[in-house]
Amino acid sequence: MKIGIMGGTFDPIHNGHLLAAETAREQAGLDEVWFMPANVPPHKANAPKATAEQRLFMVEEAIASHDAFKAKDIELARGGTSYTTDTVEKLRNQYPDYNFYYIIGADMVMYLPNWNRIEQLVSMIGFIGVTRAGYGIDLNSLPEPIRKQVQLCEMPNMELSSTDIRERRRHGKDIRYRVPDSVRTYIGENRLYEA
Ligand code: ATP
Ligand code: MG
Repeated sequence: MKIGIMGGTFDPIHNGHLLAAETAREQAGLDEVWFMPANVPPHKANAPKATAEQRLFMVEEAIASHDAFKAKDIELARGGTSYTTDTVEKLRNQYPDYNFYYIIGADMVMYLPNWNRIEQLVSMIGFIGVTRAGYGIDLNSLPEPIRKQVQLCEMPNMELSSTDIRERRRHGKDIRYRVPDSVRTYIGENRLYEA
């Protein structure tokens, strides 16, 4: 089994995440993509606005119609700061017969040198780097051991971010077509991200 891991804060999940995962699945021939919300992301200055349960629920709603997409609460269950190296170590122990690939957008590709224990991480797993509107990828500027572990994958630009979704909510704007309808309904009912 070839498994893609789609990590993120998902505060909230949006259509850019979904298309990134689907593009990676198709282009890299992945059997499944596991969406894995981070408990506390290591690289973000602000704590997530929605709770862990709310973020996980929105992910579950968003991927419900796709058989190859699964939600995993490994990082939420572990608690604390969600270091990818810890997660990947655990996955490799738990599923020794599976091959894992970590899916990241262009902004994260260029940030890889700053990831916690990156040397150890690239010795355990390969990355699928997906293009992202507004972020260039220059593989040559990455250190060799990291560059060797990144395969690139082109997706149609979707100029969407969770930050933009939260901003729109704060200003009372609609988020239709930016997130799945089920997620939009949940956000509305729970009055998430309002001013
Ligand atoms: P925020 O604005 O809060 O940082 P985000 O939209 O960047 O949210 P994250 O949860 O930070 O979402 O990202 C999870 C993963 O999805 C990252 O690897 C990121 O690069 C990727 N990603 C997010 N949005 C897009 C997009 N529009 N196109 C391609 N990749 C994306
Ligand atoms: Mg981000």
